Amino acid sequence: MKPINYNDHRATKSFNSRVRFLIFHYTAGNFSSSVNALTGPNVSAHYLVPDITDPSYVKAGYTGQEVFNLVDETHRAWHAGVSQWGNRSNLNDTSIGVEIVNLATFSQGVFNFPPYQPEQICAIEELALNILERYPDISPTRVLGHSDIAAGRKSDPGPKFPWHALHLKGVGAWFDDATRDTFLQQYNETGIPTRTKLLTLFKTYGYDVSDASTEQGFTQLVRAFQLHFRPDTYDGIMDEQTAARLAALVHKYFP
Ligand SMILES: [Zn+2]
Repeated sequence: MKPINYNDHRATKSFNSRVRFLIFHYTAGNFSSSVNALTGPNVSAHYLVPDITDPSYVKAGYTGQEVFNLVDETHRAWHAGVSQWGNRSNLNDTSIGVEIVNLATFSQGVFNFPPYQPEQICAIEELALNILERYPDISPTRVLGHSDIAAGRKSDPGPKFPWHALHLKGVGAWFDDATRDTFLQQYNETGIPTRTKLLTLFKTYGYDVSDASTEQGFTQLVRAFQLHFRPDTYDGIMDEQTAARLAALVHKYFP
């Protein structure tokens, strides 16, 4: 596989009206198994960001941080599966998918989320900024994780994904602290909004709330939100801090 070279391969602006979303994933496997899976018949992604500390990456003959372009951006890749954001479903049709090598595991009901490597994060940032520059329809709230668009079914890219740091570099959405604090103070005094109001906020922001009428569905929705916007606690329990962050995001992006 040939790594991408921004200087020649990505220099020309592509205007493809198909693309409205940028979706991040972790592979939950090393470089070797990820390449096998992503070049096999079942799943694919436009980009693969390896981990330079992964022995299978070194063994494959690569040195240094590269990014691989597996599927041309003008083609659909099969990374999102059953998915929903706003009024759009099946986001494979309208997104660019980025897979990141990370050995997250789920065993006996317990998730383990290892950190991403600093070199990987730099590569993700460079790739994302390059993509965003070429697809103006990918607004900040349309830069998402697989868990955002498939809550309850997926947990990637997980709580170690640097959403806030990427936002500070110009990639994706984040709330303003001052607005969050205002809502937090309000909720500490009066209690968090009603379930109906919370669901309206989630829906306004883009989350699919169609399964959130059950307790399990609501918990999964809250957990998906927390994995992205409150990564230090993602227990799926709605609390003042979670509600304040959600309200601050809606206030900022959907006033
Ligand atoms: Zn995924």
